Amino acid sequence: MQMSRRILGVGGDGSDAWDVYERARERQAAGKPVVMLTIGDHDRTTPRPILDAMHRSAVGGNTGYAAMRGSASLRAAIARRAAERTGIAVAPEQVVVTAGGQAALFAAFIATLDPGDAAIIVDPYYATYPLTVRAASGRVLTVAARPETGFQIDLEDLAAKAAEARVLLINTPNNPTGAVYSERTLAGVAEIAQRHDLWLISDEVYDVQVHDGVHLSAAAFPGMAERTLVIGSMSKSHMMTGSRLGWMIAPLPVAEQIGDLAIATTYGVPGFIQDAAEYALAEQSALEDEVAELYARRRQVALAALAGSNGLSLTPPAGGMYVMADIRGTGLTGKAFAHLLLEEEGIAVLPGEGFGAAAAGHVRIALTVAEDVLQDALRRLARFADRLARGAA
Ligand code: PLP
Repeated sequence: MQMSRRILGVGGDGSDAWDVYERARERQAAGKPVVMLTIGDHDRTTPRPILDAMHRSAVGGNTGYAAMRGSASLRAAIARRAAERTGIAVAPEQVVVTAGGQAALFAAFIATLDPGDAAIIVDPYYATYPLTVRAASGRVLTVAARPETGFQIDLEDLAAKAAEARVLLINTPNNPTGAVYSERTLAGVAEIAQRHDLWLISDEVYDVQVHDGVHLSAAAFPGMAERTLVIGSMSKSHMMTGSRLGWMIAPLPVAEQIGDLAIATTYGVPGFIQDAAEYALAEQSALEDEVAELYARRRQVALAALAGSNGLSLTPPAGGMYVMADIRGTGLTGKAFAHLLLEEEGIAVLPGEGFGAAAAGHVRIALTVAEDVLQDALRRLARFADRLARGAA
């Protein structure tokens, strides 16, 4: 039997980013120690009060089908949070609650692309982006964000490709690079999006994790609210990755239409998880600061541990929960480096190649272990890179 071209075409670029992760999991299963600096999952579980709220809601009876676009009160809470953070008015009806930010990304592409239409993503990119565009029957175009510019978007490259595209996806604070887009970058993005009549999908799931500068939302730039779909999530800000609770904030007609996709796919997010998210937004706002501080501290530890290495260099991340290290001085690809590092040092990082051509020769280090473990692992990583670089010289 022949499967659809669509499903067969979803994989490819971006889908092999997890090779090292799988290998690391196998090593762990075989009883060998591994320091896991791979995927962007917290090393802490969802805080107990949020789980208690989830439990109260479920035991209290909220176990049936839930409101498909999200409960009115959760949508209102998300709209309030967005308005407070961006300074623009957001109506609860513009919010659609989804099964994580990832489902919101898929919904956003379904809402804005017809089959064969091109979506621009910024390279390096979060590894699910190309798969998500293809799953929505779209075509991927990339524009570069280079280390020399602190991984800000190359606006000339963007302007040159915009005429061919219908959608532009940006992500700030950025995974994997840690870039926080400047006002200049976002003003350039807004101007190009308007000139070429592009939809803008703005992935802001790391909005609380800013170490340098401030997070700006493209939706707040003049003329952008009506063409921008903002993606948000409880995964990073409230340590709720497994709960799968995200959202899209969209212009009203999009938010209304997108309900049809919920009917065809998830039929809504479980009500007790929605209630837990609402509780977390109302009662656990200090957690957002804790998360920000935790990753800011780990970033400092990482930068200190990697400083002075001749085998690698890096652009300090301004946000997010990762460090991208340039290991081209070792003479290896990111993939070869990551595999060797796992074999020889028991440290798992992800190869840059999985995040796009612009990240080749880099590795992404997730700051997802305790500070002492991180410090030891990254000192070893730096020495490992130094040894390889001496061998390559
Ligand atoms: N966008 C970016 C840039 C991410 O890094 C992630 C997860 O790592 C997501 C979206 C999706 O997050 P979730 O589906 O858990 O909300």
